[in-house]
Amino acid sequence: MNVLVINCGSSSLKYQLINSDTEAVLAKGLCERIGIDGRLVYQKTGNDKEVTEAAMPTHKEAIQMVLDALTNAKTGAIKSLDQVNAVGHRVVHGGEKFASSVVINEEVIAAIEECSDLAPLHNPANLIGIRVCSELMPTVPQVAVFDTAFHQTMPAKAYLYGLPIEYYKNYKVRRYGFHGTSHSFVSKHAAEFLGLDLDNSKIIVCHLGNGSSISAVVNGKCVDTTMGLTPLEGVVMGTRSGNIDPAIMEYIAKKENLDIAGIMNVLNKKSGLQGLSGVSSDMRDLESAADNGNEDAANAMEVLCYGIAKFVGGYVAAMNGVDAIVFTAGIGENSGTVRSKVASYLGYLGIELDAEANAKRGEDMVISTPDSKVKVAVVPTNEELAICRETVALV
Ligand code: ADP
Repeated sequence: MNVLVINCGSSSLKYQLINSDTEAVLAKGLCERIGIDGRLVYQKTGNDKEVTEAAMPTHKEAIQMVLDALTNAKTGAIKSLDQVNAVGHRVVHGGEKFASSVVINEEVIAAIEECSDLAPLHNPANLIGIRVCSELMPTVPQVAVFDTAFHQTMPAKAYLYGLPIEYYKNYKVRRYGFHGTSHSFVSKHAAEFLGLDLDNSKIIVCHLGNGSSISAVVNGKCVDTTMGLTPLEGVVMGTRSGNIDPAIMEYIAKKENLDIAGIMNVLNKKSGLQGLSGVSSDMRDLESAADNGNEDAANAMEVLCYGIAKFVGGYVAAMNGVDAIVFTAGIGENSGTVRSKVASYLGYLGIELDAEANAKRGEDMVISTPDSKVKVAVVPTNEELAICRETVALV
C-alpha cells in the first residue's frame, strides 16, 4: 500500500509518499512559507526537483497542492488519490495519553488538543494537517505517530522532577522526551544490524541534530532520555541551551532587563552551539571555524561532546551496563570529529574506535574496533519510514 507521511509545522509541511511493500519513497518534498506567500517543492523519485511559487494562505491550499502534484498527469507519482491508502501524521506531543501510535478519530483529535498546552507551537500545527487531510481524503485512514510515545515506558524515578508533586498531579509537569520515533527506529535497527537480541539488550541512542537527545533503551524499551517537559532540556543543541542552573534565568533577567518570554527566547534561539561559539548553530561551520583556530567554536564543540559523554556515562549506570552506543541524525551520522571526541571520554568502558570506519559518514556502520568491549555504531535515522511502518501496522 501507499502511505502519505505528513509532518506539519506552523508555516511549513514536509511530506513523503512511501510504498510500504517495497519501502521505496515514490515522491517527497515540502511546502514552505504557508500563510506568507507559499512555495512547493516536489520531487518524484528519479526526477529533478520541481519548485513552484504559489499562494498558500492556509495549510489547506498547501496540502491540496501536494495532492495535485502527486497526481499530476505528467510528473505525478500516482494516477489518482485512490492510490493513497493511508496517511501517517507526525504529532509532537502525546502527553501521558498516548504510549503508542493510534488511528485518528474525533476522540483522538480532542485528546491531542488537550496536549496542545504542552507543545503550543507544534500540536496545533499537527492538528491542522490532520483536519485538512481528513477533509480532503475523507475515506482514507489517518494515523497519529507521537514524538513522545516511545518514552512513555520510563519509570517515575526517571520522569519526575524534584518539584512539588502537585505540579505533576495537577499540571502533568514531568519529563516526556522527544525524537521518540527516531530513538525507537534507530535502537531496533541497531539491534538487528549489530546482531543483538533486542529483548536482551542495553542500547544508548545519541540523536544529534539541530535538536539533540540521548536515550537509554533496555530490551527495546526507553528507560530514560535527556529531553524533558519540552525539547529545551538535555545536551547543548544548535540554538537551545540544554541543561542550565535554573537560577541563571532570574540573574540574567535582571542584568539584561528581560521578562520570562525574553529569557525563553534566549534559551531556545540564542544559546547552544550558536550562543557559545558566536559563529553558527551548524556543526559544519563550527568544525571549519575550529580548524581555523576559532577558540570559541572549539570550546562549543568540547562543551557538546563532554556533555554527551556525561549523559552516556549516566545511562550506563542507569542500565547497569551497555551493549551498544549508536549515533544518528545530522551530526551523529556525519561528524566523525564529534563521535571520536565523545568516544575519547569512554575508554573506561573498553571502547575503542576504528579511525578509518569513523571517517565515513551517512550509512549503517560499526565504528568500533573488533576488540572494543562495547559496540559503537552509526545508524541513519528515518523518521518518515518509521511513521509509514507504524501507520501500516495500524490500518
Ligand atoms: P534537525 O534537528 O533540524 O532535523 P539534522 O538532523 O538535519 O537537524 O542535523 C543538522 C545538523 O547536522 C547541523 O548541525 C549540521 O551542521 C550537521 N551536519 C550535517 N552534515 C554534516 C557534516 N557533513 N559534518 C558535520 N555536521 C553535519
